[in-house]
Amino acid sequence: MQSTLMIYDGTVPADSGVLRTGGVPLAPAGFSWPICGSFCGGPLQFFAHLPVEYGVLSVFVCQNDPGACEFWDATSGGNRVHLFPREELRPVEVPATGVTLLPAASAIRTHVVTLDPAEDGEDGDDDEVAPDAYDLARSGWKREPEERFGRQREVLGSLGGSPSYLEDDRLPACPSCTGTMEFAAHLEEGISAQTAMNLGGQLGYVFVCRDCREGAFLTN
Ligand SMILES: [Zn+2]
Ligand SMILES: [Zn+2]
Repeated sequence: MQSTLMIYDGTVPADSGVLRTGGVPLAPAGFSWPICGSFCGGPLQFFAHLPVEYGVLSVFVCQNDPGACEFWDATSGGNRVHLFPREELRPVEVPATGVTLLPAASAIRTHVVTLDPAEDGEDGDDDEVAPDAYDLARSGWKREPEERFGRQREVLGSLGGSPSYLEDDRLPACPSCTGTMEFAAHLEEGISAQTAMNLGGQLGYVFVCRDCREGAFLTN
């Protein structure tokens, strides 16, 4: 089992093109800031800029009224995932009001963790829940001997793989083709109060339909 963990790697300029949480979104010309369709009608908060091999995933979640806006639901309108081409992206003008930006822009580096579940798990009975690749990799992070951080909060999520402990009935359908979407990333709330976004203490999931260039977000 392999997981590509995303690890906190210090601060970056707000308009950096690297993997990051926070800062300002980079988008094609003519893009306008997404608005919450759940309840508040305000601008969504920009959470993450995630360059992947097929484009750039740009993740927004409503934080204007977290109790009222259903940011945890993929179909509520309280979040948005855009899939942009990698070229000709530019910083987007930030709306004057609303909760739009995280307090800090945080660089992310990737770290591939390969685990052998037979070695790692107890040799228990068949009733046990199958080991979860992301969960094992994340909880193992604090034991990585070579790493300068060695704390679980430094794990900001992961790229690719399969969604961690997510019920099948929560897998989103593509809003365009209605097909099952591909899992793209996990997102954690962040390393500290200065950098974190509020996901209600939950894990965030990013999905994509490469054919339709659509994205989706939800939390567990
Ligand atoms: Zn809202
Ligand atoms: Zn589709």
